[in-house]
Amino acid sequence: MPNWTDTPTPRRGPRPLPIMRTPVGKPLVATITTDRMSCCPTHFWGGRTTPCEKPDCDACNHGSPSREHAYLGIYFIDQQASAILELPDGAAEQLALLAKNLPTLRGARIRVTRTKLSRNARVCVELAPPAINPPPLPTPPQLREILAIIWKLPQAAITEEKADMRQNTIRLDAIIMAKRNGKPTPSATPNVQP
Ligand SMILES: [Zn+2]
Repeated sequence: MPNWTDTPTPRRGPRPLPIMRTPVGKPLVATITTDRMSCCPTHFWGGRTTPCEKPDCDACNHGSPSREHAYLGIYFIDQQASAILELPDGAAEQLALLAKNLPTLRGARIRVTRTKLSRNARVCVELAPPAINPPPLPTPPQLREILAIIWKLPQAAITEEKADMRQNTIRLDAIIMAKRNGKPTPSATPNVQP
């Protein structure tokens, strides 16, 4: 029998958000919702972006170069849509410089563009401080938890499944570890190396 209810079952874990990279040929303009960046060295490994997990990193052990990326929560006010913005290392450094006198990034408007019509072209960042009367913003996303799920880290699987029986959690973790050590797992989002 179906288990009908009048209301949706509350989601377990953080609400998933898409990861966005700077588009080619047009600017991306949004309002930042997180207080600061979250920066992490990553690899393009197994056909997708994964975090570097030094000192025990499969990608490093196979000679894959790592590159730092920065992640921010962003909000598109007109569309009332949230996302995670991924910035390459140079753009993150530029943002850090622009924001050095701001107590928080939350509420600031970011505009990112590529300097050429190529998806690997350098990313240029502009930042406008928060407006005096800023529009209401959604609560900041649980950025690192969401990325852990997108990156399919075993810990995320454990957190997601913590309400389940421990035996089931261990089984799920073992499946993910087996996938990570064997064939690459499919990405949760379209993932191209910027
Ligand atoms: Zn690594």
